[in-house]
Amino acid sequence: MSTIDTVTTPLGGPSLPQERRLVTSIPGPRSQQLLDRKAAAVAAGVGHTAPIEAVAAGGGVILDADGNSLIDLGSGIAVTTLGNAHPKVVAAVQAQVAQFTHTCFMISPYESYVGVAEALNRVTPGDHVKKSALFNSGAEAVENAIKIARKYTKKQAVVAFDHGYHGRTNLTMALTAKAMPYKSGFGPFASEIYRAPLSYPYRDGLTGPEAAKKAISVIEKQVGADNLAAVIIEPIQGEGGFIVPAEGFLPALVEWCTANNVVFIADEIQTGFARTGEMFASDLFGITPDLITTAKGIAGGMPLAAVTGRAEIMDASHAGGLGGTYGGNPVACAAALAAIEAFETEDLLGRAREVEAILKSRLAGLQDPRIGDVRGHGAMIAAEFVDPATGEPDAALTAAVAKACIAEGVIVLTCGTYGNVIRFLPPLSIPDALLHEGLDVVAAALAAA
Ligand SMILES: *Cc1c(COP(=O)(O)O)cnc(C)c1O
Repeated sequence: MSTIDTVTTPLGGPSLPQERRLVTSIPGPRSQQLLDRKAAAVAAGVGHTAPIEAVAAGGGVILDADGNSLIDLGSGIAVTTLGNAHPKVVAAVQAQVAQFTHTCFMISPYESYVGVAEALNRVTPGDHVKKSALFNSGAEAVENAIKIARKYTKKQAVVAFDHGYHGRTNLTMALTAKAMPYKSGFGPFASEIYRAPLSYPYRDGLTGPEAAKKAISVIEKQVGADNLAAVIIEPIQGEGGFIVPAEGFLPALVEWCTANNVVFIADEIQTGFARTGEMFASDLFGITPDLITTAKGIAGGMPLAAVTGRAEIMDASHAGGLGGTYGGNPVACAAALAAIEAFETEDLLGRAREVEAILKSRLAGLQDPRIGDVRGHGAMIAAEFVDPATGEPDAALTAAVAKACIAEGVIVLTCGTYGNVIRFLPPLSIPDALLHEGLDVVAAALAAA
């Protein structure tokens, strides 16, 4: 690797050349070999977006086995917000893995788990007394948040929202709205889950208070506060299409929950940890959730998840009621402590807002009538594609643009109930020039589609 084309990114990370470089078509021959082995050895239900064999990643690029360097606008689904293999995370993981890899926190507790709990209690919204519990995945955190809310309220029903996404386990499939690909054929689903209408300003034309009134009416009439343990919502929906609720929607829901002994759970698994330009999206809307679920960006790419919330709610469970063999694994906790320190010291909130300004101005500058809406906060921005004549969702155009981008060496992800949204989730370590180049490729793909 020459030093001339090696640019150290603003946040550090491995010194990979920060460039888009295609030396084969995508997939190249070595990547294709791996994909053939994948098809033979890995269950067909486990899909992939970019047909490559990844061998290294850092800054704003992912390198493949054929020597291609692709621009990463997805961060492994909003996980490597800090940048892949962030040096502080790497050092913390290396030190911990040489010390011990596992004792099981429920058998022999260790300091880093407690440190992560203390850090989460400090950085999550609200200055009330909080406690945390750690798990392995986002879905597991959501399951546990529901367990905790039911135990605390002694009630059973749970309300989730249209377009919501909360995971792929049985309870979280029930909470998730979209059938394909997440639920279809995988039922029966958990009972006592109800769905309320969301605020979706681009499509419903309602103000926040109007949308909240509609949702609360559905909840009161179809479920009843006496039966309802929890309301769970993503403050900005991720998988559902980066839907930002109208102002006033979330505060009205929180107020109703508080008045009715219903636990308000903010699922910040995708929106958390500087992604939206605030540490948590709840901060954008001025709400204080009773419980908050986190995962994805929490540990620089290591698998970790958490439930954090009001101490009296978190403490409702009997001893031994919460946990898991691996939950709060010491290597993942070491990574999380390093990641949270980076979030608190490296002005990543400011960086997320810079990324927002670039993404929004470039997407607005396209002035393409097929882009019906550009929305989001921080490094979590989406474009919704529609038929300009009817406003109907255009999933075919969206898929074609995403496919063309990947073929040109730019990894973009789609989302949305109607499959008509491209979501931009770049790592905050991406250099501006590379972000612009990625958007040039998106613009060209859209023009050609
Ligand atoms: C990804 C995600 C989950 C599920 O997390 P996993 O780690 O994949 O189980 C839950 N909620 C939201 C909002 C997510 O984005």
